[in-house]
Amino acid sequence: MDAIAAALAAAEFDPLKRLDAPLAEDAQLLLCHPADYVERIRMAIPAAGIYQLDADTHVSSGSLTAAMRGAGGACHAVDLVMQGEAGNAFVAMRPPGHHAERATPMGFCLFGTVAIAARHAMERHGLRRVAVVDFDVHHGNGTQDLLWDEARALFISSHQMPLWPGTGTADERGAHGNVMNVPLAPGTDGPAFRRIYEDLVLPQLDRFAPELLLISAGFDAHRDDPLAQLALTEQDFAWVTGALCDIAARHCDGRVVSTLEGGYDLEALAASVAAHVRVLMEKAA
Ligand SMILES: [Zn+2]
Repeated sequence: MDAIAAALAAAEFDPLKRLDAPLAEDAQLLLCHPADYVERIRMAIPAAGIYQLDADTHVSSGSLTAAMRGAGGACHAVDLVMQGEAGNAFVAMRPPGHHAERATPMGFCLFGTVAIAARHAMERHGLRRVAVVDFDVHHGNGTQDLLWDEARALFISSHQMPLWPGTGTADERGAHGNVMNVPLAPGTDGPAFRRIYEDLVLPQLDRFAPELLLISAGFDAHRDDPLAQLALTEQDFAWVTGALCDIAARHCDGRVVSTLEGGYDLEALAASVAAHVRVLMEKAA
């Protein structure tokens, strides 16, 4: 978060409107998670030190608040964009959310932030077609689980395969054909990534004609990221951001809400977020 804040402090981001993320209401968490799961996470939070939910997913005394601000911030961003008070929005948050399943924390994630935002858009704003595009290098297994039988959502995930968590093959298609998985071979670079988006992802999105486009923006497909082996650069993240914004412009007045997922090389993360937000700002202008 500090690396991102430093990158977005540059003068070129001056017109950027910065808001504090509100805590999610319980009702928002319950759009995707059972009450006893939310209670289990609440009870697992230690007064001090670290508690391990699994091998990857640790919580400290601040984790619940942080995760609730992520989900609350994403829902608030949806409200602002739907009400026309913002053209689009980026939610800088930690922990990420796209690995959290209905009743299982996973991969640093406690709550399924982007899926919660999608359901919030449906319930609060009455939307019937919400697209979620996840370009994090890992499969968005949690979002897929949470939106699997949601006919009002289209979930598209591109991710390296093989790679943790191991799910996300092309034959996982959702209960209504509403899930599209695009596995990428290790070593996939920018030109190949762009071709795959042009051939598969963008046409599918165009056919769906979303009323709102949500992005799970993980930047760990960057070539410098230590957790995976794709070879994207910040220019590729700028390109995909622009391409997604153009689809949103065509179908839904450019309404995009992007939520931060992974990204573990701090320099690459900061430069990639800056490139992403720069394009969001240009497209909202
Ligand atoms: Zn990731």
